[in-house]
Amino acid sequence: MSGGDVHYVYPQSDLNEDLIQKYLNNGGKLLFHHEGKKIVQTDENVQVECEDLDCQKAVTIQADFVAGCDGYHGIARQSIPTGAVEIYTKEYNYRWLAILAYAPPSAQHPLYSAHPDGFAGHMLRNSKISRYYLQISSTDTLEDWQNERIWANLRKRLAKEGWKLNEGEIFQKQIMELRNYVMEPMGYRRLFMAGDAAHIITPMGGKGLNIAVQDAGVLAETLISYYLENQDSSYLERYSQIRLPYIWRAQEFSYSMLKMLHSPSGENLEDVRFRRKLRESKLEQLTTSLTFAKDFARNYVGIV
Ligand SMILES: Cc1cc2nc3c(=O)[nH]c(=O)nc-3n(C[C@H](O)[C@H](O)[C@H](O)COP(=O)(O)OP(=O)(O)OC[C@H]3O[C@@H](n4cnc5c(N)ncnc54)[C@H](O)[C@@H]3O)c2cc1C
Repeated sequence: MSGGDVHYVYPQSDLNEDLIQKYLNNGGKLLFHHEGKKIVQTDENVQVECEDLDCQKAVTIQADFVAGCDGYHGIARQSIPTGAVEIYTKEYNYRWLAILAYAPPSAQHPLYSAHPDGFAGHMLRNSKISRYYLQISSTDTLEDWQNERIWANLRKRLAKEGWKLNEGEIFQKQIMELRNYVMEPMGYRRLFMAGDAAHIITPMGGKGLNIAVQDAGVLAETLISYYLENQDSSYLERYSQIRLPYIWRAQEFSYSMLKMLHSPSGENLEDVRFRRKLRESKLEQLTTSLTFAKDFARNYVGIV
C-alpha cells in the first residue's frame, strides 16, 4: 500500500557501527572519549572546547561551522541563547514502559495494539532479542511493574487468536517520557543543529533516527554547496528551510498515530469518553478506507 517503498528493520547500534566503519574507511577522523564542554562563537569562527577523557587534557577545536549532533541533553542545544530560536513542545499524561528481553520475535513485523487498558507494542531486534512497550500511567514507577505483571499485560493487550507471545528473561526495563520538541530555525549563527538536538519526537512511528540521518545528509549538501558556490551565506539558510517541513510532517504523523493507539486518560471523564470515540473512528477508517490506509502506509515506511 505504500506505493513500493518498504520498511527496514535496522537496529540502531548496528547502524551506528556501520556508519562509523564507513567513515573511518574513507579516512574520517573520530575523537572518541572527548567530551564537548562549551561552544564559543565569534563573527569569524566557532570553537568547541573539549576534554580528552583518557588523558584528562583540554582540547580546543576551531572551525568555520559546527554541527550540533549531540542529542537532546548535549551542549549544542544549551549553548543557544534563550529567545534566539523559537521552541515548540508537547508533553503527555502517560508514559511508556520499555523492556528488552531474551525472547525471539513473536511476529516477523512490529505489532501495535490499541487495547482498552492501553497501548502495547512488539518490536523486532534480532533472532534472540525483542523489544516491547506498554502504555503506563505517568505516576507509575518501575517498582509497580514487576516482570509477571509486564508479561500478563503484554499477553492480554497483544492477544490475538492463533498467536502466541514468546517470553524470556527481561534484561532491560525503563520508563520513557513521551515528548515532542522542535527548534526553529535549526541553528544559531555558525552552529547548525541536527537530529535530537534540534527536534524530539515520540518513538511512535519510528521516525527519530530517520529524520536525524536525513538532517545530516541535507546539512552536508548545504555545506558543500556553500564552499563550492563562493561561500554565499544564503546557502546556509536553506538547511532549516528544507528540513523543517519534513520535521513537522514526521511530528504530525507520529502524533496522530500515538493518539490512534493510546487509551485517552485524564480527570475529565466526559472528555476521555469523547476522545475514545474519536480514536475508534480513526482506527475504523484505517481498516476500512483504502485511501486512508495508503496514506498511512506511505508515511509509515518513510516518505518522511
Ligand atoms: C526507546 C527508543 C526507541 C526508538 N526507536 C526508534 C525507531 O524505531 N526508529 C527511529 O527512527 N528512531 C527511534 N528512536 C529515536 C532515535 O533513537 C533518536 O532519534 C536518534 O538516536 C537521534 O540521533 P542523534 O544522533 O541525533 O542523537 P543521539 O543518538 O542521542 O546521539 C548523540 C550522541 O552525542 C553524544 N554526546 C552527547 N553529549 C555530548 C558531549 N557533551 N560531548 C560529546 N558527545 C556528546 C552522545 O554520547 C551520543 O553518542 C527511538 C528512541 C528511543 C529512546
